[in-house]
Amino acid sequence: MTVRNEILKNVKTVVIKIGSSVISNRDKGRSSLKCGLSNDWVRHYARKIKFIRDKGYDVVLVSSGAIMAGRERLEFSRADLTIPEKQACAAIGQSFLMHTYEKAFEKKKLKVAQILLSHDDLGNRRRYLNAKHTIEELLEKGVVPIINENDSVTVEEIKIGDNDTLSATVACLVDAQLLIILSDVDGLYDKDPSLKVKQGTAKAQLISHISKVNEGIEKIAGKSNNRLTVGGMITKVLAAKKTMSFGIPTLVVNGLDEKVIENIFAGKDVGTLFWSGKDKIRDRKHWIAHTLKSSGTLTIDEGARKALMEKGKSLLPAGLVKVKGNFEFGNALTLMDIEGKEIGRGLVNYNSRDLEKIKGMKTSAVRSLIGESYYEEVIHRDDLVIFYSLDNKQ
Ligand code: GLU
Repeated sequence: MTVRNEILKNVKTVVIKIGSSVISNRDKGRSSLKCGLSNDWVRHYARKIKFIRDKGYDVVLVSSGAIMAGRERLEFSRADLTIPEKQACAAIGQSFLMHTYEKAFEKKKLKVAQILLSHDDLGNRRRYLNAKHTIEELLEKGVVPIINENDSVTVEEIKIGDNDTLSATVACLVDAQLLIILSDVDGLYDKDPSLKVKQGTAKAQLISHISKVNEGIEKIAGKSNNRLTVGGMITKVLAAKKTMSFGIPTLVVNGLDEKVIENIFAGKDVGTLFWSGKDKIRDRKHWIAHTLKSSGTLTIDEGARKALMEKGKSLLPAGLVKVKGNFEFGNALTLMDIEGKEIGRGLVNYNSRDLEKIKGMKTSAVRSLIGESYYEEVIHRDDLVIFYSLDNKQ
């Protein structure tokens, strides 16, 4: 069985990210700053979602296009919109976007629901779960949730920022088995396909399968200069890196190819697949995060929070501020930042008595205090689940 067929076999819920350029009327010869929403493309995707639903899969959409639609309606064609101008575009554009989806999906007898998420909703465990339950309820009722960032009220500093990242977070949130990112390029090439091929060098090749996102891959993802899209290829690659760490396969494909959805579900080799194969860690991390009961709480300082959330590091004694609860080696604990926000769960390498003694200490001091049985990490990264790990901005 091919890799793609193997993936399809396990799919129950699929998250589909639709980029602005996929549902724009740019194909009518407009410049990217002047184009708006294309009814035809939205209808096209209503048909495709119906096709996927008829195959028995649940579908969650993450759709961009609010700012683009608002730009057109407010006749803003300058490149350098101010933040309030962009937010005004998002406000007018989002309702127009949903109205367009609603009309198109209605024709296919499908109901849609709008969910606008902000960074705060995803960073806070209670709100994260709330969003999860709402989406699950909608899927249960056969509704297609359409998600976007709450652009009109979110200030720039705390924005998720791009819908590639948002779609990866949503895929993890709903425990999807497949994320499809529809963009206006065929996938990831081994070099920029828009550059002229120099004599004696090979043409850019589409990479069909990436099993690990390393620095080299991030480098060739580079930057896109398409004004309609926020992130370009690099945000797609980083989004895939996140979903891969949760064991969710991600496909980056060309949404302007009218047959792409059928091809994906026929197991054909389209776009670039990001998948590291069956991921044991995923089940284990799922178990740490959702199955084990927490036996205590560790409060960590800002430096440790950053190291864990932004750099994927382990928790060391030096970053520990407070230890709460009576626990033994191997128990699951809740991690909190200094503001009391729950940021993750992990399996601890010390009991609460020893941890109380070594909190805040440098590794060398811990070694001489505890002796042979000391562990460098309080919680090793492999035993750690961060609830919202792609947040690099807070
Ligand atoms: N949320 C933005 C919008 O709907 C798009 C962000 C993105 O394209 O990544 O206009």
